[in-house]
Amino acid sequence: MEKILASLITIGDELLIGQTIDTNSAWIAQQLNNIGVWVHRRVAVGDNKKDIVQALDEESRDSHIILITGGLGPTADDITKPVLMDYFGGQLIVHEETLHAVMGFFESRGLPVLQRNVDQARVPDSCTVLFNKRGTAPGMLFHKDGKIYVSMPGVPHEMKGIMEDHVLDIIRDQFQTPALLHQTLLTSGMGESFVAERIKDFEAALPSSIKLAYLPNFGLLKLRLTATGKDKISTAALLSEHFHQLKAMLEDIVVVDEDIAIEQVLGRILKEKNKTVGTAESCTGGNISRMITCVPGSSVYFKGSVVSYANEIKTTLLGVKESTLQTFGAVSEETVKEMVTGGIKALGTDYMVAVSGILGPDGGTPEKPVGTVWMAAGDANEIVTIKHHFRYDRARNTDMASVAAINLLRKFITR
Ligand code: AMP
Ligand code: MG
Repeated sequence: MEKILASLITIGDELLIGQTIDTNSAWIAQQLNNIGVWVHRRVAVGDNKKDIVQALDEESRDSHIILITGGLGPTADDITKPVLMDYFGGQLIVHEETLHAVMGFFESRGLPVLQRNVDQARVPDSCTVLFNKRGTAPGMLFHKDGKIYVSMPGVPHEMKGIMEDHVLDIIRDQFQTPALLHQTLLTSGMGESFVAERIKDFEAALPSSIKLAYLPNFGLLKLRLTATGKDKISTAALLSEHFHQLKAMLEDIVVVDEDIAIEQVLGRILKEKNKTVGTAESCTGGNISRMITCVPGSSVYFKGSVVSYANEIKTTLLGVKESTLQTFGAVSEETVKEMVTGGIKALGTDYMVAVSGILGPDGGTPEKPVGTVWMAAGDANEIVTIKHHFRYDRARNTDMASVAAINLLRKFITR
């Protein structure tokens, strides 16, 4: 079966100067992957006719599907629509349903309708309009030489609506896609080269239809197996067989056999055990509780957090002893242990995780250099601790520390 290839073209000067991060491509790629379409290239270009046309020419050479986002706004900097009209031919006509929606959008907000907004309802007659129920710029579908081209607004929320309402179905209808399946293992406690060494025979013996990817991040390692095949059932069976082999070889370091985040894993464990948790955070400033509460349903097991950034808060709200801070310092094993004990008292939780460290760029000393982070996790009877040395910038150190703290708590609960 022929592999169905897609190219993503993202348009906008803001993408090229790094002002906006291209999240559209990542999201679209995931959606296409789910339906068996292979994204073989992603291109970002500015709001510039020559570059847009060149990208269209180049991408249509190999790809069956070309998805474009950006440049459809009502302002002069957005030029995608006239460029596409030139490229595919046709004339601008008013799309009545879109015009009606645009008028409604402004009238319901008590705003005048400007000509530039009315113009958003004008589309080349060479396209099929993909109605945008979340905004004023419609999506446009063009066909040329058996390939499809879709232009969508850059606003992620609007683009997603058009993809889900129209584009994915159109692709499924027009192309016969092979099965493309993934299974992911999350591991903790072993670096990728050591893991690779342990599973090298397995990796070498993998059939050509299965690929193994190593995805290290924030001190954890994901291993993804991707299988391609003619039909879903036999592909899934082959994938599952190899995934089980992989899992068995890494049993001692497996966190979870699904593609989910560590905070979701923690949430599941707490829910299962019917236990509650809180955080006592110094250097992470609430980031751990933010991660935990990003998981829907976390209110069942998460009670709250004491962000004890200042020593004064560590003593008054968490009951850390003045003498502990004096003798060992705020960044110490003794302090994080007392933060756990005090946190459990203050918040009334079953478990607590506490973090205190120096994330940089300043504040390090010879004994406690930047990146030194003490963390503790425990319950009313027992506390475990660990000291980390993170070597990155402040933002990454914060993420590393937060993931490590959640992982420490997970290990404590499942010990
Ligand atoms: P536009 O359709 O060009 O008017 O884009 C509207 C807004 O969408 C811009 O202000 C960008 O911040 C955002 N945007 C455009 N392209 C992308 C992209 N590839 N990923 C994420 N956001 C984007
Ligand atoms: Mg733009």
